[in-house]
Amino acid sequence: MSNPAEIFGENVFSISVMKERLPKETFKEVKNAIDNGKRLSPEAANVVANEMKQWAIEKGCTHYTHWFQPMTGITAEKHDSFVSPTDDGNIILRFSGKELTQGEPDASSFPSGGLRATFEARGYTAWDPTSYAFIKEGVLCIPTAFCSYGGEALDKKTPLLRSMEAINKQALRVLKLFGNEDVNGVKTTVGPEQEYFLIDKDGYNARRDLIYTGRTLFGATPPKGQQMEDHYFGVIKPRVQAFMKDLNDELWKLGILATTEHNEVAPSQHEMAPIFTTTNIATDHNQLTMEIMKKVAQKHDLVCLLHEKPFAGVNGSGKHNNWSISTDTGLNLLEPGDTPYENAQFLLFLTAVIKAVDEYQDLLRISVASAGNDHRLGANEAPPAVISIFLGSELSEILDAIENDTPYGAKEKELLKIGVHVLPKFPKDTTDRNRTSPFAFTGNKFEFRMLGSASSIALANTVLNTAVAEALKQYADKLEGSADFTSALHDLIKSEIKSHKRIIFNGNGYDDAWIAEAEKRGLSNLKTTPDAVAHYLDQKNKDLFISHKVYSEAEMVSRHEVFLDKYCKLLHIEAMTMLEMAKQDILPAVSSYSSTLADNIAAKDQIGIKSEFESKTLSDIAADMKSAYEAYSALSTSIVDVEKEEDLVKKADTYKDVIKSQMEALRASCDKLETETAAEFWPFPTYGELLFAVR
Ligand code: ADP
Ligand code: MG
Repeated sequence: MSNPAEIFGENVFSISVMKERLPKETFKEVKNAIDNGKRLSPEAANVVANEMKQWAIEKGCTHYTHWFQPMTGITAEKHDSFVSPTDDGNIILRFSGKELTQGEPDASSFPSGGLRATFEARGYTAWDPTSYAFIKEGVLCIPTAFCSYGGEALDKKTPLLRSMEAINKQALRVLKLFGNEDVNGVKTTVGPEQEYFLIDKDGYNARRDLIYTGRTLFGATPPKGQQMEDHYFGVIKPRVQAFMKDLNDELWKLGILATTEHNEVAPSQHEMAPIFTTTNIATDHNQLTMEIMKKVAQKHDLVCLLHEKPFAGVNGSGKHNNWSISTDTGLNLLEPGDTPYENAQFLLFLTAVIKAVDEYQDLLRISVASAGNDHRLGANEAPPAVISIFLGSELSEILDAIENDTPYGAKEKELLKIGVHVLPKFPKDTTDRNRTSPFAFTGNKFEFRMLGSASSIALANTVLNTAVAEALKQYADKLEGSADFTSALHDLIKSEIKSHKRIIFNGNGYDDAWIAEAEKRGLSNLKTTPDAVAHYLDQKNKDLFISHKVYSEAEMVSRHEVFLDKYCKLLHIEAMTMLEMAKQDILPAVSSYSSTLADNIAAKDQIGIKSEFESKTLSDIAADMKSAYEAYSALSTSIVDVEKEEDLVKKADTYKDVIKSQMEALRASCDKLETETAAEFWPFPTYGELLFAVR
């Protein structure tokens, strides 16, 4: 067992490494760049680059890369070596300040949603000093933002950083009103819990659907699934334990604080929770975590599935984005305080989140939209596609008392006055009692639970940060001029609760009655990615992002296109994979089995024995093969037609309305055939074999 204290952060060019290795003056400049976003001078950049190179070489690196997060949602890197030729035919290892701070990857094959056509063809990467450089597989990785030469963001990181700036600015205004003169910066923090499946490599390799799409496109329900719920928090199997140990070691070396690990509800499903950190670093870390999970799994002859729904009828995987706001003085702004004043401040930030979530429900839904996640949301295993906030009864009662000027609690005689009364301590929610809520207050943070396991957390946090920044901006605008701050504050919170309480729901989100109730309340229910993305360019959403300088209009238009394009491409690959598997694997296998049955029937017939099982099975199979082949033919025609559609919105809608249901029909017939065909004929591992193979 490695000692975490010894290996923690050993592959990170962290603040402590920099403090130790850099000259005092240079370190000060770097610290200023990290804390205050000041640009590093070229001289300082050279010094940092040289020391970084030296450190990396000592650790066995020969190459470096600008590591960035294009709109694909995964990370990209292109390795350059430190090697430079010298005049005398030798080499030296060089890494300049310019190479550290700026790079020019060939951007042409990353999605730009039309941005490159309209602007400048090349893109460049720019060092983000707030996220430390690190070593991964012998390569020095430098976290960067990725932009076009026109300055348009081509990545997920740039808008996230801008959104952090937006919330910083507005939160500081609000904090000044409460007299927090010592606060100079506000950051959002995130701890993303990550779910995943681990399956055996051999099973994976025998399934083209898993290889091409990350999920099973066929597969009958096994006799045992997750009904017994005996996997949740159950004993971790030795092979999985070995994987988790290795995973922790690798994450610790990168300074990622993986803490808890446990089994999830579905067989073969697990979860890892890190300790929270600043949002942009948490985003980098989560991308790294996903990558390392896959690599470490390989070493153990396992495959880590990060798809949101690898198995039908079995819980899918999500990501719980625990989010809060804190000051550079160490105050968590979503933590109720001890004094009336702290409580008033807490209530205003809480109200800002409630307003933000209510007004930008659609954007939050969009931020988690993907073809894969569509299989989870609303499927009684993940939150519904309707956004609501869980506050818990204690906090809800307090808000009620404020809204209605009614006394709070049994003993209280007086009305609850903001800025005068101390709120009771809320018990921290440590249970699963609100698993069904998409957005739950858990004592000192919110847990946004709609994210799919495979997705980057960048967009969800960009939306959250910006929407809350807007709410805080409106509050600051109102309160800055008020003559009597305390009563203006009270009135503001009161009227905001009235306006936005429809978004608060403490009940069971899986309940059909809630969906009906939500509709009555006017909450949106955007069931699929195309349904959700249709609202991305709504005027209020453009106004939000543009006014806070998080996206330009062109950047939004491009992201809209990338969303739909990705959706169509994914469904196209899935449909093509299904067609291939049906035609090349399933139907031929069933056909062979039919011949065997027919031969057996004939052989038995010759000696006068009846073939009840064989005859019945053969006729069942014949009927199901017929419907499978019909579904196959329909899908193969439609898939050609849909690709001719040039309007991306119409194309995505056709995938959603036509292709998806044809895929379901093909799957239904084939899954039925699976239950009718002798096991030795079935061409790939079944659900049972995939889900219960790892011991
Ligand atoms: P709970 O007991 O409510 O589940 P935990 O302390 O176990 O809360 O934390 C769950 C996740 O939330 C962890 O990943 C943790 O790092 C994260 N978390 C805790 N506090 C914060 C915070 N202030 N901001 C962001 N994430 C947080
Ligand atoms: Mg959780």
